[in-house]
Amino acid sequence: MNRATWVDRHGRKMPDRPAVAEGTQVHATWGQLARTVAAVASGLREQLALVPGDRVAIVMRNRPEYLEAMYAVWHAGLVVVPVNARLHRDEIAYILTDSGTRAVVTDDEHAEDIAALVERVDTLEASVVAPGPQWDRLAAAAPTALADPAPDDPAWLFYTSGTTGRPKGAVLTHRNLLMASLSYFADIDAVSATESVLHAAPLSHGSGLYGLPHVARGAVSVFPSPDGLGGAELLSLVARWPGMSFFAAPIMVKRLATDAALVAGDLTGLKTIIYGGAPMYLADLEAALATFGPRLAQIYGQGETPMTITALSKADHADRDHPHWRERMQSVGFPRTDVEVRVVDRDDRQLSAGEVGEVVVRGDVVMGGYWGQPEATKEALKGGWLHTGDLGSFDDDGCLTLRDRSKDLIISGGMNIYPREVEEALLTHPRVTSVAVVGRPDPEWGESVVAFVVVDGPRPPLEELDRACLDRIARFKRPKQYLFVESLPTNNYGKVLKRSLRDMLHQDDASQR
Ligand code: AMP
Repeated sequence: MNRATWVDRHGRKMPDRPAVAEGTQVHATWGQLARTVAAVASGLREQLALVPGDRVAIVMRNRPEYLEAMYAVWHAGLVVVPVNARLHRDEIAYILTDSGTRAVVTDDEHAEDIAALVERVDTLEASVVAPGPQWDRLAAAAPTALADPAPDDPAWLFYTSGTTGRPKGAVLTHRNLLMASLSYFADIDAVSATESVLHAAPLSHGSGLYGLPHVARGAVSVFPSPDGLGGAELLSLVARWPGMSFFAAPIMVKRLATDAALVAGDLTGLKTIIYGGAPMYLADLEAALATFGPRLAQIYGQGETPMTITALSKADHADRDHPHWRERMQSVGFPRTDVEVRVVDRDDRQLSAGEVGEVVVRGDVVMGGYWGQPEATKEALKGGWLHTGDLGSFDDDGCLTLRDRSKDLIISGGMNIYPREVEEALLTHPRVTSVAVVGRPDPEWGESVVAFVVVDGPRPPLEELDRACLDRIARFKRPKQYLFVESLPTNNYGKVLKRSLRDMLHQDDASQR
């Protein structure tokens, strides 16, 4: 089943109900959206001579035309490559080349960069700026019928955020995206046509994926102003489009949780904030729960199994009397309905509760493989299980706690140290606002623990930071060095780039030699 079928159906069933909104204004009803999608699909096929299976990239900030382009690509039987528009031009060029993209839909802001890439990327033949006259020409084409891709045909090439080396294109099929959507209904929320989804984070990542179940049920897709969502705007959008859910990286939830307008505001119309993609520390989560109440749900996933491995539901967050509540709030929750999740050793043997190993996943939501990379695919899908590269352990209740990415693990004096627990300990210090712990090569210990610390106000004495650790974790895990920094390097999805921090340490070591 084609993912664009949902738009087509709603266009017939409820043509006058709002489908897409820009702020508080309706941008398109379902009838209008269905017509635009079918017309642009026809334009892509006829005017740009694209054939089923061809890749069409979208390089634009979140805006209504993004959604129109995405569903038009599917309607036409093509494959969408949503590219994070905040990437550098060379990074975008890499993705367009790797995916063999033939056409790009972009916006004014990126038009010049993309036009230059038409020369550089061999397969790239056309770029269309939306909104604008080129887009209008596509949208004026005579609507075409829905293409009929097979369930295992690629629908979305999801480029990993590249925290480790070059990004790879996870091939997400129509079946994968359907499973991710159904799984949302099973584990996160039911959705109805009177509700809404807010695209506050890039559509090329989690927000795009969580948009799917909302389109499936006919909810309104709402686009906030491009300047970064603030509390006052969120309140007005929630009032206009009640029953609102949105996906946000932990860093954004943290920022919104202390927004004065939201702390004091009426959040009745806010249904769910889905957070994930990076660790949410307990202190931040408690602040977010104080502001938002039981509206938070956590997901743990990867592009390779589109945001579907485990979840910590709203009910889990609200169950404060549970004897393991604190531990659960530091975990990533329970396996999703549609997947099997295991923790395995280096030889892929299943480990028992309490033992730490690599998290592996199997199910219909798991990607077909990496685009054009048979070796990496074989490695990632060894034995039919997706190897996530994340380390974790189950408890006796079946709740999964992530320790870290395997490459972030620090081994010092033969002991495993998981940066996350050191970070949690340091964050209990009232002046520490964020922290990242990495290993530094050490001739005696193999690696030693280094903490990059961001503080609010004057630097606390190092003994206080040591004390925060010694009160909570084993002595050998305490950082050997604290480095105070203004901010931590993050990628465009708000993930801390530990690789950059390690590189900084390496350079420092080299310059001292
Ligand atoms: P990406 O495919 O770019 O979204 O990156 C996926 C990676 O982000 C996972 O393999 C985890 O390392 C990390 N991640 C995703 N969700 C969570 C979460 N809820 N808590 C901690 N880390 C997460």
